Amino acid sequence: MTQQNSGGEIDLEAGIARRMDALVARKRAENEAAIARIATLDTGWKDINGDIDTDLKTGLDTARVEAQAMQDAMDRLTRNVCGGVDKNAFGLAGKVVDAKSEIGLPGLTVKVALGLESAAQSKEAETDNYGDFFFSFELDQAGQGRSKPTPLLIVVLFATDTVVYREQRSIAPKAGAVEHLALAVDCSGKLKAALEQGKQVAASVQGDAKLVEARAANFDAAYTTFKRLSETTLSQLRGLRQELSVAPPRVESARAATAGSVVTVATQTRLLGNSHARELHDLENVKKQCQIAEIKPDHRVYFRTEREAVAAGYDLCGNCFGKKKKSKTPPSTPPRAPTKRGRAAKSAQGKKRK
Ligand SMILES: [Zn+2]
Repeated sequence: MTQQNSGGEIDLEAGIARRMDALVARKRAENEAAIARIATLDTGWKDINGDIDTDLKTGLDTARVEAQAMQDAMDRLTRNVCGGVDKNAFGLAGKVVDAKSEIGLPGLTVKVALGLESAAQSKEAETDNYGDFFFSFELDQAGQGRSKPTPLLIVVLFATDTVVYREQRSIAPKAGAVEHLALAVDCSGKLKAALEQGKQVAASVQGDAKLVEARAANFDAAYTTFKRLSETTLSQLRGLRQELSVAPPRVESARAATAGSVVTVATQTRLLGNSHARELHDLENVKKQCQIAEIKPDHRVYFRTEREAVAAGYDLCGNCFGKKKKSKTPPSTPPRAPTKRGRAAKSAQGKKRK
């Protein structure tokens, strides 16, 4: 750490400056390493962030599709939702429900006969899980758009041979249009099984709908939380990097300030004081006995004048200042307690005198 210059003195100022430089360099290296780590975190975070973002968005989209499907299913519980028909066709979308509960009845056979002018058309279908059925009739060119009252016969059968519903009505088939029918059936006897099945379907749809709704809400909440957290963390990381990036100049200024004070303290004159021995030496007349090299760095104090040093309680060294100049004032530090040998010598002297 310390270095001796050509005169054999320890160059304190250079030592401290070098130590400061080493400290600053180390601090800067640490900061740069931290900044690099944060940069890696930033990039990594963005990547992970992107992956989670994609996953959550996909989950959210799926949940939304499911929610829409469940909404459709819920709609189907109350009416036959039909996607429309070809422009040359006439559609008949119906639902067979329990008269009391209005729950759709699955697995029933629906037979219809439409007495069109060209030719009567008969069709047959089974109700689906919602009790829904759908028929499409091709209309001839001449009949299109006329919407002439036409007889329609509807029969609903259970187990293909038991008639549970029969109705004849008049409708006006129109090309590209769909007529909706609601057929209410009294569910007693054999139809109880169909009603039970319909209830299960309704319960299942409603249960699923709640589940899907809850799931979509969870995804929504999770995504919102994630976004906020992600942005906060990233901005904190960036803030930290910003702070670290500013740190080195602060170390620089600290060094400058400290270096300044070092210069003040270490300004050398020819008058070097040993603060431990309270002795002042004249460096331009230094002698071997002064043992300047032995003075520890933190015991070295320089004075501009002898008077200043004496005022501070320093004795002038007899070797470099000469015997005559050697101050006659006693040292300000208390005299050392006599050693054993000293005491023994004294007592020996005393005996001799006696
Ligand atoms: Zn001296």
